[in-house]
Amino acid sequence: MRARIAAACAAADRDPAEITLIAVGKGMAAGRVAEILALGVTDLGENKAQEAATKAADVASLQPEPVARWHFIGQLQRNKARLVTEFASMVHSVDRPTLVVALDRAAAARRRPLEVLLQLDLDPEPDPTRGGVDPQDLASLADAVLRVEHLALRGVMTVAPQGVDARRAFDRLVGYSQVLQAIQPSATVISAGMSGDLEAAISAGATHVRVGTALFGARKLASEHRS
Ligand SMILES: *Cc1c(COP(=O)(O)O)cnc(C)c1O
Repeated sequence: MRARIAAACAAADRDPAEITLIAVGKGMAAGRVAEILALGVTDLGENKAQEAATKAADVASLQPEPVARWHFIGQLQRNKARLVTEFASMVHSVDRPTLVVALDRAAAARRRPLEVLLQLDLDPEPDPTRGGVDPQDLASLADAVLRVEHLALRGVMTVAPQGVDARRAFDRLVGYSQVLQAIQPSATVISAGMSGDLEAAISAGATHVRVGTALFGARKLASEHRS
């Protein structure tokens, strides 16, 4: 995977050090995720709150070093906000003001602010199961995050819509990233690219890629896109 990212960076004239690889272990046992961590992939991603919380604890006991950074990348219900703030460093899927409020309240108990990304829905025919804010509402959602105390606004995220050219979707995401950085200059993270489209994402400017299948092999379908 590092070689694939390096090749994509070479093709795009970018430095691989700019790209954070997030290993998405959803549907995989803690032991498999611990093996990846032992190889030095310290950024780990999950998309279901309960599975993630349990796995974060199990991985920490199986593989205490290096210490993992957990990314929550799935649709999040408000009543799971507390669970997620207990283990996650970054939540990629903030897409509505009510979730901002719930995460802020839950993050008040943390030592450090919870880093958040705003997830954009770039589908011409929005799919509510995939989540994401309508790009028209990006600035007001950003303001909602900036108004609260315990969240740090770090950037944008998207999942390329099906049936749309991924590169075009990622170019749009980069445009919205610039809109966001005009509001909050430190919100530089661009989370885009999965096993099937990470080259397109890196070429467009992604800083974080979220890779499951290409690292762990195929999952059972039931774990897709739900929390
Ligand atoms: C599952 C998932 C990924 C990883 O997908 P792969 O195609 O297995 O690499 C990335 N991002 C999100 C939001 C996901 O749910």
